[in-house]
Amino acid sequence: MSMPYSPEELLRVARAAREYAYAPYSGFRVGAALACADGTVYGGCNVENASFGLSICAERVAVFRAVAEGRRSFVALAVVGPGPGPVYPCGACRQVLHEFAPDLTVVVAGDRGEYWERKLEDLLPLVFDPKVIREG
Ligand SMILES: [Zn+2]
Repeated sequence: MSMPYSPEELLRVARAAREYAYAPYSGFRVGAALACADGTVYGGCNVENASFGLSICAERVAVFRAVAEGRRSFVALAVVGPGPGPVYPCGACRQVLHEFAPDLTVVVAGDRGEYWERKLEDLLPLVFDPKVIREG
């Protein structure tokens, strides 16, 4: 499936979303952008909480925004964090992404304009597959 948005365009949306990150405890501000098969793009930022366990990652914010507006088919996700190196989605976000888009392309970037593209299946081998529940 082709990407309706270029990695650079997705990263631009992710960087814009990062501006809204609420990370007063860690200071680790992350932005994400999720490209849907219909061309829609949803941004997300991490949202922390004084009860730390309630905090949520930028990637899941983007996914849940998209699902709440009727999208379930995704083609690419971009993630940007602080620093020169790439910030990869955490394990929980990888599992949530797999639920809807096992073939997803994940674009990770640092703050120097470099980016790297990975396939979700390479980031999450031997995944807990929803088919296990559906098909027993
Ligand atoms: Zn995460």
